[in-house]
Amino acid sequence: MPSDTPTNLYDLTRPALGALLSDWGFRPHHRDVLWSGLYRQQARALDEVEGLRSDLRDTLRERTRLSHLATHHEAFSSDGFTHKLLLRLEDGQTIETVLMRFKGRATVCISTQAGCAMGCVFCATGQMGLSRHLTPGEIVGQILHVQRILRASGESLRNVVLMGMGEPLHNYDNTLAAVDVLVDPLGLALAPRFITLSTVGVVPGIRRLADEDRPVQLAVSLHGATDAERAALVPAGRRWPLAELMDACRYYIARRKRRIFFEWTLIAGRNDTSEHAHTLGALLGGMDAHVNVIPLNPTVGYDGDPSQPASVRAFQDVLMSHGVPSTVRQRRGIDIDAGCGQLKSAVERRSRRSLPTSP
Ligand code: SAH
Ligand code: SF4
Repeated sequence: MPSDTPTNLYDLTRPALGALLSDWGFRPHHRDVLWSGLYRQQARALDEVEGLRSDLRDTLRERTRLSHLATHHEAFSSDGFTHKLLLRLEDGQTIETVLMRFKGRATVCISTQAGCAMGCVFCATGQMGLSRHLTPGEIVGQILHVQRILRASGESLRNVVLMGMGEPLHNYDNTLAAVDVLVDPLGLALAPRFITLSTVGVVPGIRRLADEDRPVQLAVSLHGATDAERAALVPAGRRWPLAELMDACRYYIARRKRRIFFEWTLIAGRNDTSEHAHTLGALLGGMDAHVNVIPLNPTVGYDGDPSQPASVRAFQDVLMSHGVPSTVRQRRGIDIDAGCGQLKSAVERRSRRSLPTSP
């Protein structure tokens, strides 16, 4: 956004909003009225915010804006649980947000960047490259968008996973400012333990997260347990080799006294043999770690197949022999074609061929 664009109120944490209002001469009480209107009441416009002083409303109208995300495209998975949204930002960029509606515990998978610079070979977002970082308001806006959908049917949101498009720790400040808004007790008040941040392994970001004690669950995408095998799938592995990455993870676990989830996308013949499992087990053995194995979700730009169920079970058995627990993440929701940039690429392919975009 150009610098003369009025501030998007959703970009601000509560302390930042307080600083802005106090510069204008308003007391903290007014900040909290506005905050509650935006996030408890979830007002769409300043006129709807209950109890807001009229002179503050006028000042806000002049100097700020409330930016909402628009639905560009949406689709429902055949299992009925998953609602995939392609949301449009103010500059026309589109990002993916996926809502999974398990009764009583809805989960949303949100994006932190439009595209991604990390170039993981099997990932649809990686295949499209980075367009730009999302602002805090664009990250929070995805939650407000799905909250409106859930509220309409009396459901509530429990889990947030930062596993949509982009690398959250490449956009550290904006992502963590958004997390601060999501967990703020006077606003959306989401439980920090139900927020999972997944990273490709940005070492400085993991160390910073450990030092700052941001209240999220950390997941690290490994996919390979030797530098050569990992770098072939995850180019970021060349920048942050496994020795450095595992050091940072051990530091995080020790500092935060919190377990790390490691993600492993299983690709037939590529990283799913018993030898691969032994190497991974040896790497993680003795750590407070849990592995999420996710059979590959094939993408147009990568020629690989998901592992067979028998290989998945055998892989898990070997991990267990090293004392490393694991869970297979079902290929629904984020694991089907909304996974990571796949809806956006599918919609773009269709529009390039000038076909209708409805499913
Ligand atoms: N950039 C972060 C978060 C977004 S990707 C990260 O890489 O961790 C979220 C997860 O989806 C990662 O573990 C990623 O490796 C995985 N993923 C991406 N594309 C996939 C695909 N086609 N099939 C299975 N998992 C995929
Ligand atoms: Fe980026 Fe994550 Fe996709 Fe890798 S898997 S390209 S880090 S979004």
